[in-house]
Amino acid sequence: MKDKKARFETKKSEALMARAVGLMPGGVNSPVRAFRSVGGTPLFIAEGKGSRVVDADNNIYIDYLGSWGPLILGHSPAVVRAALRRQIERGTSFGAPTENEVVLAEMIIDAVPSIEKVRLVNSGTEATMSAVRLARAFTGRNKIVKFDGCYHGHVDSLLVKAGSGVATLGLPDSPGVASDCVHTLSIPYNDEDALIKVFELHKSEIAAVIVEPIPGNMGAVLPARGFLEQLRKITKKHETLLIFDEVISGFRISRGGAQERFKVKPDLTCLGKVVGGGLPIGAYGGRKEIMKMVAPEGPVYQAGTLSGNPVAVTAGIAALKAIAKPDVYGVLEEKTALLVDGLRKAASAAGVEVVINSIGSMFTVFFTSSPVKDFQSAKTSDTARYANFFHALLEKGVYFPPSQFETCFVSLAHTKSDISTTLKAARTAFNMIAGH
Ligand SMILES: *Cc1c(COP(=O)(O)O)cnc(C)c1O
Repeated sequence: MKDKKARFETKKSEALMARAVGLMPGGVNSPVRAFRSVGGTPLFIAEGKGSRVVDADNNIYIDYLGSWGPLILGHSPAVVRAALRRQIERGTSFGAPTENEVVLAEMIIDAVPSIEKVRLVNSGTEATMSAVRLARAFTGRNKIVKFDGCYHGHVDSLLVKAGSGVATLGLPDSPGVASDCVHTLSIPYNDEDALIKVFELHKSEIAAVIVEPIPGNMGAVLPARGFLEQLRKITKKHETLLIFDEVISGFRISRGGAQERFKVKPDLTCLGKVVGGGLPIGAYGGRKEIMKMVAPEGPVYQAGTLSGNPVAVTAGIAALKAIAKPDVYGVLEEKTALLVDGLRKAASAAGVEVVINSIGSMFTVFFTSSPVKDFQSAKTSDTARYANFFHALLEKGVYFPPSQFETCFVSLAHTKSDISTTLKAARTAFNMIAGH
């Protein structure tokens, strides 16, 4: 990596964006990358190593985006690079089964308490889409319950009151999503009364409840005590499937995800992000009795030319091996606690009101004074303040997600010195916001 330049310049990123906007919608291949809610030009990233990324103008940042979740080991870890090199020499895609798919499936089933059988796909979106189809087929019912502000990928039936980019852009439910979404009921997260009510109204029609057990797409939100247990109880009672979308929390919060941490077993689980070691993968799995309905064992069709891709699977295996070491999650949590504690102190010293939600290696700094427990309370945040905070950090070489409604991720590559540098930048940023 080259030395950081003295002045914060983004000329090359701006020139690349000027080329990109004519070629791709908004100049990007995924909306959240466009800096729409924080303003300014997105940075084009040229390189990533450990806790750092370097942009096209050679500015270096301590990165808390982590590619939106996958990079639990940091950027370009040596173990993943070495495994990829070996695999690429052997070929990149065969359209036939490979040994490493068996290995990764064994690792997933071994780690995630509720998964007895698993299918690999190419993205989190494919995982949730397929899990919902399977739940409908298994139950013979149509309706799906989700929670406001939870994002489950850009699946038609799940793009209702979705978080992440949809929330960032302030979009209503997406146009182009037709009749499919009339079967989707969205209720507030952490609201047991709303849950009871939706089952009173629609009980025998609900195929599945899909939930981010630890929502990350309205910013990080924690499940209230007993909420996930209540969810398990009511779905069981009505023979509705419970789907945990652990695309973020799987292998991130603990090896077995949120279901291991909170000891609640869903019927189906969706994975993505960390499980691909930085390459495109998704997975869905669950009880054998349900999974055996998937083709070719059963009638529910779901396929993929590149599913279980040898390169992606190799990266996933290498990453999951690297985080199988004892105390990985303890170390991550300790680092995160150090950072979050420092951020709270810095905000308070500057007289800036924030609420910081944090669990494991996930956290979000909400610019609000009321506790954030669902989408409605997340939306009380001052997003203009977040934008100022984001840009002030960026100028000091710290890269947070370009939206209030997203989660920061700490990786194993972040050092104590990274954390002190981040806190120094945060003190400046909070003071700037407070106007001192
Ligand atoms: C990122 C995400 C998805 C979608 O995964 P993609 O790989 O982007 O399709 C689904 N669910 C949750 C909870 C996510 O955070």
